[in-house]
Amino acid sequence: MAATAVVRVCESINCTKEAKLQCPTCIKLGIEGSFFCEQECFKGSWKEHKQVHKKERMKINMKAQNEAAVSFNPWPGYVFSGPLRPFPKSTLRVVPEGIEKPDYADHPEGYPASEMEIRGSTQIKVLNKDEIEGLRTACKYGREVLDVAAAMIRPGVTTDDIDEAVHNACIERKCYPSPLNYRGFPKSCCTSVNEVICHGIPDKRPLEEGDIVNVDITVFHNGYHGDLNETFFVGKVDDKSKELVQTTYEALKEAINMVKPGVRYRDVGNVIQKKVQAHGFSVVRTYCGHGIHRLFHTTPSIPHYSKNKAIGVMKPGHAFTIEPMINMGKWQDSLWPDDWTAVTVDGKRSAQFEHTLIVTETGCDILTARQDKDGQPHFLDQLETL
Ligand SMILES: [Zn+2]
Ligand SMILES: [Zn+2]
Repeated sequence: MAATAVVRVCESINCTKEAKLQCPTCIKLGIEGSFFCEQECFKGSWKEHKQVHKKERMKINMKAQNEAAVSFNPWPGYVFSGPLRPFPKSTLRVVPEGIEKPDYADHPEGYPASEMEIRGSTQIKVLNKDEIEGLRTACKYGREVLDVAAAMIRPGVTTDDIDEAVHNACIERKCYPSPLNYRGFPKSCCTSVNEVICHGIPDKRPLEEGDIVNVDITVFHNGYHGDLNETFFVGKVDDKSKELVQTTYEALKEAINMVKPGVRYRDVGNVIQKKVQAHGFSVVRTYCGHGIHRLFHTTPSIPHYSKNKAIGVMKPGHAFTIEPMINMGKWQDSLWPDDWTAVTVDGKRSAQFEHTLIVTETGCDILTARQDKDGQPHFLDQLETL
């Protein structure tokens, strides 16, 4: 007996024509149905139809994530403070010959010899005009690389995808990704999701709707490091997370506003803590802002909490970062057994923003400022549309 030919009708509303084409994305994703009469109807219903893809992609990613999570447990017995888990990592990325590398890049343990040489000294380097220009260029490239990462943030993208793009964006600009092999760090940037405070290692975990993720970029170019980070929203996030991210950014902004010759480094933390405490948030104490130029991390050390004992007074030509890490709950941090990933002890979320600054005669220049959108961080673009 011959089979009856199936006549399908176009799925778009108010169309009764015979369907002759099937959505190619739906075929790829294994979604059944999605038949349309011709391109015109397909295009017309695209806006609603693409939601079908979005939902399916989310489902696929969650499934992959759950499968990976149950099969991958590198530290049996370790008690995690929050819901985030490590995922498998990609193999090491290579930096081609011809790109200038910092001293630790080829050391077996990533030992930063030039930094260690002057460890213990409290002297802060005053950069001359040429040195400031060198630093400025590195910071400009760092900003461009962070913007590449920012454009990728959405549910389903893995932090390893971000790391790959960051690595390639560095190389395109003849930059070495400073985190790579620094004291043995295995990747080209830090990606810190939800309860991770800083130094999260990019892995195969797909970002989930509602996550917050910090991407921390440092690039090394022509002998100088430029360092910045921002926290991003993944799709729609809850109001408390929005408040945390916004407050952290405002705390950095207020701290930057006070930077000028004569100000004591120890006073930066007072401004930051006062700001975030008013929202019931707390300041991480283990990790600080740092001097930066030919060295990735050097004097001064700039704590972000109040009543600290930091040494030094700001002078024109001083270059350093301010990078407050702000927690929703307790300020205390703990370390995953990978010896890098710093998480909150209560598993609540943490946010961070960072800029590299140079002190001028009257204030400071934000060397890593965003070039478009009047220097506003990326999450503000998203707030408008939430
Ligand atoms: Zn930094
Ligand atoms: Zn950084």
